[in-house]
Amino acid sequence: MSLIVHKYGGTSMGSTDRIKNVAKRVAKWSRAGYQMVVVPSAMSGETNRLLGLAKELAPSSASMSYQRELDMLASTGEQASSALLAIALQAEGVESVSYAGWQLPIRTNSAFTKARIESIEDKRVMADLDKGKVVIITGFQGVDEHSNITTLGRGGSDTSAVAIAVALKASECLIYTDVDGVYTTDPRVVPEAKRLLTISFEEMLEMASMGSKVLQIRSVEFAGKYKVPLRVLSSFTPWDIDLTEEARSGTLISFEEDEKMEQAIVSGIAFNRDEAKISVLGVPDKPGIAYQILGAVAQANIEVDMIIQNISRDGKTDFSFTVHRNDHAKTLDLLKSQVIPELGAAEVVGDTKICKVSIVGIGMRSHVGVASKMFKTLSEEGINIQMISTSEIKTSVVIDEKYMELAVRALHKTFDLDQDRA
Ligand code: ADP
Ligand code: ASP
Ligand code: MG
Repeated sequence: MSLIVHKYGGTSMGSTDRIKNVAKRVAKWSRAGYQMVVVPSAMSGETNRLLGLAKELAPSSASMSYQRELDMLASTGEQASSALLAIALQAEGVESVSYAGWQLPIRTNSAFTKARIESIEDKRVMADLDKGKVVIITGFQGVDEHSNITTLGRGGSDTSAVAIAVALKASECLIYTDVDGVYTTDPRVVPEAKRLLTISFEEMLEMASMGSKVLQIRSVEFAGKYKVPLRVLSSFTPWDIDLTEEARSGTLISFEEDEKMEQAIVSGIAFNRDEAKISVLGVPDKPGIAYQILGAVAQANIEVDMIIQNISRDGKTDFSFTVHRNDHAKTLDLLKSQVIPELGAAEVVGDTKICKVSIVGIGMRSHVGVASKMFKTLSEEGINIQMISTSEIKTSVVIDEKYMELAVRALHKTFDLDQDRA
């Protein structure tokens, strides 16, 4: 019988009752003859609670030693939930064993708090599966070459699950969460959002990278690279629903672009409140400016997203870009102390009250005027666009954060996403 990986998110693991429910569901799959590997997240709120404790003791710091301890700390959340699930399964009469990432091991690089998986040793898991056990593997974590525990970035259990599915050559990876699939936009922001039966892998990649946290972007990258069948579905359906029905529910991340997908010009809207805008004003407009500014930022390990350089006036120009909000203060300090004096720029200003709203759809490849329809809608709502960026299947704008919900709702309507799809 085939090997299946299930992943359960924080809300799905949020209480002992919910863990019992997960155990009953997994037991159902196991009894139906599937070899089962389960990847749980920490119980909801636990990762935030742990990281909050660290902050109480010392404000966040970029030092390696501090980041290392954050991973040591945050990884315990998944260790606890994995053990609890194993206990719940044993109580259901199902043989089960849990492993922390380092015990397999799941090898990662040493980038604490955002490590990348390099390899997964499958021997122990395969031996247990052969004995008929359900194997539970902590999400979100691994171990580096110096035996330090690492974590994969927030939402990283999705990536653990897909990487484990790849390593074990699983026939499918099912991501169980607190919504019943991938929607046209976050259903918590737009109640009219519709669930998609399928979404193309490319669209899911754009949605995730533009801020839809229903799947961590690295998990989608892995699934795309190794063509792992991936499905997002609800953990809140009754555990005893028919297994075949359950296996077909939710949203399939599809690798084939069918005609129906092409018909929808825009498939979804993503938004992201985690960015901040930095503007360097009055920069002398000469070769090497972008490199001088962004080179220094890259060297400090700060990721840059959108970039805009204005045309120059009187030999001076303005240069703006966005970074993660957590990096806002660090970027400003860096520019003020190092780059501005060298460049002779007039000033640098930051804005944390921005958000990025993106429309995503593979139909945008073959249709013109989609971006202008987006801009028209925003102008009708009186929303000023600060930055724009486009790719083949996406248009993103940066706007004032206070208009985010208004913008998402209006765009959702403009592109008919609240209509039922045939
Ligand atoms: P988990 O704890 O199961 O990993 P997350 O909170 O990480 O769950 O992701 C699920 C949440 O993603 C949903 O509760 C929903 O609010 C949010 N979300 C954002 N965009 C979408 C979307 N397009 N479709 C479905 N859910 C979305
Ligand atoms: N527990 C981790 C987090 O809260 C990982 C995850 O939930 O996927 O980010
Ligand atoms: Mg998640």
